[in-house]
Amino acid sequence: MAPGEKSGGRRGEFQLIAELFAPLARGATGAFGLKDDAATIDVAVDRELVATADALVESVHFLRSDPPASIAKKALRVNLSDLAAKGAEPEAYMLVLSLAPWIKDDWLTRFTGGLASDQSEFGITLIGGDTTATPGPLTIGVTAFGTVPRGHMLRRAGARPGDAVFVSGTIGDSGGGLAILHGDGNSLSSEMRDALVSRYRVPQPRTRLGPRLTHLATSALDVSDGLLADLNHIAEVSGTRIVVEGQQVPLSAPLRALWGSDVDAIVRAASSGDDYEIAFTAPWSEKGAINAAAQAAGVEVCEIGHVEEGEGVALLGLDGRPVTLGRLGFTHF
Ligand code: ADP
Ligand code: MG
Repeated sequence: MAPGEKSGGRRGEFQLIAELFAPLARGATGAFGLKDDAATIDVAVDRELVATADALVESVHFLRSDPPASIAKKALRVNLSDLAAKGAEPEAYMLVLSLAPWIKDDWLTRFTGGLASDQSEFGITLIGGDTTATPGPLTIGVTAFGTVPRGHMLRRAGARPGDAVFVSGTIGDSGGGLAILHGDGNSLSSEMRDALVSRYRVPQPRTRLGPRLTHLATSALDVSDGLLADLNHIAEVSGTRIVVEGQQVPLSAPLRALWGSDVDAIVRAASSGDDYEIAFTAPWSEKGAINAAAQAAGVEVCEIGHVEEGEGVALLGLDGRPVTLGRLGFTHF
């Protein structure tokens, strides 16, 4: 056993912080090498801090058998997706770990390796956290901080009748990936199956798009519960109704191969969760600017519907009539 290592193949708490976490905090002067009680975050006078938190729980959000680097990336990226949807540029994050007995040094090394690679991909740095032991399950909490031009964080409230509704990327892939992990899709090519499963395991937060929308969108959120459920959140807090044209909902080629493209497939895609796309509303007049933002960000943006007076969310079928909807998306309880 190395000095300070506890029995059972795991470093002691302080060794863990010094050897695995402190290197991830090297770029942040306000983290003080993880040798202080708290960290500072410097914000330019014309910007403000945006904070968001999301926790992942073993057996709920990931499986013990998932690659540790993917679990790390998912924990960070679900938070980066919230920042992106608020128009924020990522700055720093904190990590709260409750380590179950099955977590050993090798798992932690691969976990922090996943964090290191995403830190350089997304330009964010660890500035602190807390580490405790638990009988289980493993719980990973991330609090992420970003900045927006002062007064311009994108809100869920703000959609106005007459606005158009947009969504980035494609919808339902992650739900399709989960279905494949449960045994569906045996007739698909392995490339198509992998494409869907990797959308489920490792979200692609739209960090390049969000900050380009701060002066264009009237409301925005990240699609995590399901497109319809999340648009319903916008409708509710904005005091409006949102109408989605089913045939405009963007479905990827692998998802169409898995589920087809009839109205049932569209409803299924639009009510399965974990997409981590940005759904937003904006005046029609901003359409050209939105296309330019999408192009600069390197992501597709589709117009999928409109905002009108009223309440709730409606999905129009291929005949243009509203489809009867059951559950709109995922809830924990
Ligand atoms: P405290 O006694 O205040 O809980 P700790 O001894 O837990 O402080 O933490 C010491 C330092 O290590 C602090 O800077 C804290 O932010 C950092 N730290 C602890 N756990 C983590 C973690 N999981 N990720 C990042 N930093 C951590
Ligand atoms: Mg502590």
